[in-house]
Amino acid sequence: MGQIKNYFNVIKEIVTGEEYLSDKDKFTLLLHFCALTHLIDAALFLGFNDIMMLLYNLGAFLLYESCISLAKNKKFKYISIITVLEVLVFVTITTILYGNLLYFNLYSFLIIPTVFYVTATSKDYRHPYVFALVISLVTVAVLIFSITYPGSAGSLTRITEHPILAIFTKITNVLLTTNLLATISFLFAMEMRNSYQALENRNNQLVKLSKRDPLTKLPNRRSMAEQLNIAMHKLKREKKKFCVILGDIDDFKKVNDTYGHDCGDKVLVMVANTISSQLRDGDYVCRWGGEEILIIVNGNMDAAKAFGERVLDKIKNQKVEYEGNIFNLTMTFGIAEANESLRIEDFITQADNRLYYGKSHGKCQVVSEIPVSKISN
Ligand code: GH3
Ligand code: MG
Ligand code: MG
Repeated sequence: MGQIKNYFNVIKEIVTGEEYLSDKDKFTLLLHFCALTHLIDAALFLGFNDIMMLLYNLGAFLLYESCISLAKNKKFKYISIITVLEVLVFVTITTILYGNLLYFNLYSFLIIPTVFYVTATSKDYRHPYVFALVISLVTVAVLIFSITYPGSAGSLTRITEHPILAIFTKITNVLLTTNLLATISFLFAMEMRNSYQALENRNNQLVKLSKRDPLTKLPNRRSMAEQLNIAMHKLKREKKKFCVILGDIDDFKKVNDTYGHDCGDKVLVMVANTISSQLRDGDYVCRWGGEEILIIVNGNMDAAKAFGERVLDKIKNQKVEYEGNIFNLTMTFGIAEANESLRIEDFITQADNRLYYGKSHGKCQVVSEIPVSKISN
């Protein structure tokens, strides 16, 4: 009972895409199905008093069950060859004995989709489609033989002696072949769905990665361009004001030169985290360049100035500890308010000019305008 529940759980997980059937699982399933089919056929031939076919089917049952160890050792190619040969031999023998009267030739129809499915979804074949095509052609030959050969007189009398069992055998063969066809179609559909899903997940992951800076985990310049366009759109449509703040760590080269590049990296991560912690809904921060940060702040210049001062205060008062050394950081910020009549590049340049002004006038400050006298100089 527990095993049946487990079996249904696995099917549920395959359907929902939580579980992927490995090659080993697929081949084990296929082998069990073939073994079970031969066990049922053995019982049918017992009913017909055909001891030779009874023994053949019991032998085939044992063959498939013993092939499960091949599946465990991942010898999938051997399993496909053994299975295909066995089905072809079985269809040929039953045709020689019974013609196509008991529908044993239906099993040969299973070979074509199975061989395409198995070769296409396994990495074990160098030329999967050539292999599948050759097997399919042999199968077609056996099938043509099975519908033209009349069978042997001795076996045909067994059918006339057991008419009910003959009908039952036909129905059983139809049910077994359609069941396996449905199973293979199901596995193939799931396989396609799962590989599509895996590809989509990988794609989403790559898109995410392409938008993030790997060191600070902040969005990178490319994704900030999207945000700037959105903000500009909202400014034009909804009159939602926003400012850009360009920040640059003061004397960062000295940090690298004195404590090493790893310490510089740690400082960048700290600064990124401090700024991110101060953002409100709708504000964005990105790593704009080496140690330059660009922030979109919603609101007018006063709001952006207050934001810049708050962040500068946090950074100034934060102690950096690295391998027993403790030091402080400062940053300089330049702010520009977005304007419908300006292009994005224009007000970023404005923020950059103000940052540059701050750098050349003592650093560690937030610059929202350059005194007119300084511009004309
Ligand atoms: P200023 O106060 O004028 O900004 O002086 P500064 O020394 O900070 O000068 P600048 O802004 O030009 O320094 C940029 C330095 O940032 C140079 C480069 O080695 C360093 N840098 C850029 N990216 C990284 C990084 O990812 N990790 C580390 N550790 N350093 C970086
Ligand atoms: Mg700097
Ligand atoms: Mg710089």
